[in-house]
Amino acid sequence: MRADIEGGVAALARGLSERRYSSEELVRVHLARIEAGRELGAFLHVDAEGALERARQCDERLARGEGGALEGVPVAHKDIFVTRGMPSTAGSKMLEGYASPFDAAVVARLGAGAPGLGPGAGMVTLGKLNCDEFAMGSTNENSAFGPVRNPWDRTRVPGGSSGGSAAAVAAGLVPAATGTDTGGSIRQPASFCGITGIKPTYGLCSRYGMIAFASSLDQAGPLARSAEDCALLLTAMSGHDPRDATSSERPAEDLHARMLAPREGAGAARPLAGLRIGLPREFFPPELSADVEGAVRAALAEMEKLGATLVDVSLPRTELAIPVYYIIAPAEASSNLGRYDGVRYGHRAAHYADLGDMYRKTRSEGFGAEVKRRIMIGTYVLSHGYYDAYYLQAQKLRRMIADDFRACFERCDVVAGPVAPSVAPHLGAHGDDPVKAYLADIFTLPASLAGLPCMSVPAGFASSAAGDHMPVGLQLIGNYFAEGALLHAAHALQQATDWHLRSPGGAP
Ligand code: GLN
Repeated sequence: MRADIEGGVAALARGLSERRYSSEELVRVHLARIEAGRELGAFLHVDAEGALERARQCDERLARGEGGALEGVPVAHKDIFVTRGMPSTAGSKMLEGYASPFDAAVVARLGAGAPGLGPGAGMVTLGKLNCDEFAMGSTNENSAFGPVRNPWDRTRVPGGSSGGSAAAVAAGLVPAATGTDTGGSIRQPASFCGITGIKPTYGLCSRYGMIAFASSLDQAGPLARSAEDCALLLTAMSGHDPRDATSSERPAEDLHARMLAPREGAGAARPLAGLRIGLPREFFPPELSADVEGAVRAALAEMEKLGATLVDVSLPRTELAIPVYYIIAPAEASSNLGRYDGVRYGHRAAHYADLGDMYRKTRSEGFGAEVKRRIMIGTYVLSHGYYDAYYLQAQKLRRMIADDFRACFERCDVVAGPVAPSVAPHLGAHGDDPVKAYLADIFTLPASLAGLPCMSVPAGFASSAAGDHMPVGLQLIGNYFAEGALLHAAHALQQATDWHLRSPGGAP
């Protein structure tokens, strides 16, 4: 097996174009790593045959000097994106055995393309990644197919809901992966696993073929080792799609070029000169773990050295983001998940008396506890008599949370803070108390509710014994469609630091 195959997406794409190795060799190396890393539980399905076949086709195109921007580079998808020729489960028993007749828009755009979307970037899909059931959760423990382990410490969770994606990238099983973020599910696992992840502005990536959780919040995005790799993937993933009515009609942007473009008036030594980073005081509460605060402040100090200035700002409704999100997301979920009735998709109870009994048994058997809890909450807040008190109130507050950001962005260009209040907890730490897990979403929910682009960037490691040298992420939030500015800032930080280059013991 070749030992010189290393680095992220950018390095591998370069290696392929320089013919240092073939796509088939790349795929074989990663399939071997996936096999060796099986006990992490990151993959739900590995398509070795299909990937090798695709890789050989990529090699033919590369030999002719053809193909997409990322032709032949391996990738894997969160199992919430539907894929033709592979199972698509959303981490749920409800969809066990379900195979989609088409690829999600994001899958097609990163891969072989699709009619109407044009040619794809040419990546080779290795398989599907574990996640919390229907993306509901923040530890990956809600998957019907077992938990995922954090490659930095296998007794800890990788975060969620894109836990399989983050663990697979951190452990080097795959150079990059897709994820989805409804309330933090790209940023928080990226933070817990020491990698980079970006959730773009709502509407930048098509949701076509993304199994729905809460449609007004769900967004796709990449998880990878660096901001540069994220820029390459996100450029390929984004763009208008008439099949998603909320997909943005803005012309697609080359985010990689935008990331590399110098800031006006900034020199090479101070690439962030003139950048105002707003620190909301609500993002640094007394309960924030010292491990997280220390790492985040150290990363911000590095950004200051690169020319950025830190300004105090306020997001006064930060705490309200939790109840607002945990009303709106379950409300939308209860409606979206109505389609799993045993008739159209996936699981159907084996024995039943009549149609009502079939629905009841199918849904009781198919959904896990957290999904049922959210369907019940969602149905409650939408029901007659409660709608005004809960759902409508939450919608009004959601608007006010977005207004708070608007006011912030008059005083700063980027908002920064922690991703999560602590490093990755141990498996089982939340016990039977879902509210404990909900409260830990406090720093990721506001940007989701506002629909803003946001990312997690490695910011070093915990220094206390309790933190056990686990990775910590810095969250950067930008104004609408300012993904380029976010990636530029993160890239500048990564050019000056090496936190993102560290990998857990044993990983390549
Ligand atoms: N942790 C949040 C939840 O449980 C966010 C999940 C997500 O972003 N998909 O809903």
